[in-house]
Amino acid sequence: MPSCTNCNRLLVPMEGIQLGEELFCGARCMSSGSVILRANSLPSDVIQGMVQQAHSGPCPVCRLQRGAVDVHYAHKIASFFIFSTWSSAPQISCTHCAIKRQSLALVYCILVGWWGFPWGILGTPVQVVRNIISMVKSGKKPIQPSAQLERFVRIAAALQLPLKVAQELYPKSI
Ligand SMILES: [Zn+2]
Ligand SMILES: [Zn+2]
Repeated sequence: MPSCTNCNRLLVPMEGIQLGEELFCGARCMSSGSVILRANSLPSDVIQGMVQQAHSGPCPVCRLQRGAVDVHYAHKIASFFIFSTWSSAPQISCTHCAIKRQSLALVYCILVGWWGFPWGILGTPVQVVRNIISMVKSGKKPIQPSAQLERFVRIAAALQLPLKVAQELYPKSI
């Protein structure tokens, strides 16, 4: 199924706006999307240098020089009666900060995930397991920068902003 390049929302066939090779769910995502198009057209050799620099540089979160800076995911769920909200949010950080953030997200799920039916009861174990999987993945300290990191370095370069600022403006673009 096709999905919006910017927000990842799944789109039914014929839905969405095509821009070059990318597909967007609406005008708002498309304006972020023009940044993505610009980002994708930046020359690979320049970007590769920037990706390596980001990967081996200081962590944008703790500012320490620990290396293996990459995109890491933390998964949350909160529910109350029939209401529930889920999220899987990426963040660029070192492995150390990633595991700390994922453990906090895991505790969060256990504390506030359960209190709804059916999605709280069903969704909490899913998000807990996803956090554990992400922690194991982050713990391996990726030697090679991931494709998501490259994608985000491209967006930051297209916006001419530091990674950390670009990430706050376009959190879903990673
Ligand atoms: Zn969208
Ligand atoms: Zn860090």
